[in-house]
Amino acid sequence: MKYRNTNIFSQILLKKTPCDKVFEDRVVLAFKDIKPKANTHVLVIPKMPVATFSDFCEENTAITVGLFFKKVHEVARFIGVDDGFQMIVNNGEKGQQEVFHLHAHILSDKKPKV
Ligand code: 5GP
Repeated sequence: MKYRNTNIFSQILLKKTPCDKVFEDRVVLAFKDIKPKANTHVLVIPKMPVATFSDFCEENTAITVGLFFKKVHEVARFIGVDDGFQMIVNNGEKGQQEVFHLHAHILSDKKPKV
């Protein structure tokens, strides 16, 4: 799928739209979901422009894909929910994805530390 930088997460990465940031490094940005479905609902996005999880896997090495999952865990640990959380990646329109910049949802009943 063609990546379009008009999507809202691209606008957040470009700092044209604000977000409630919880973590950032050179690979990912993590921020709170605007409509949280649990006490913790954080979105982790890679800084590279990629629309879907399938595209990410097709276009990158296992090391890059694996690094993203390591980062999701690092964010979960940073916000204090790594003892148990749901990680959801909606993939494509048929997979209920609404924002076409790859993202992993971190959900937990626990409140985040940050
Ligand atoms: P998807 O269905 O694509 O996996 O999830 C997109 C998520 O992005 C939804 O949970 C939605 O609430 C969240 N979202 C949509 N727009 C914004 C926004 O402008 N800021 C933040 N922080 N989250 C958003």
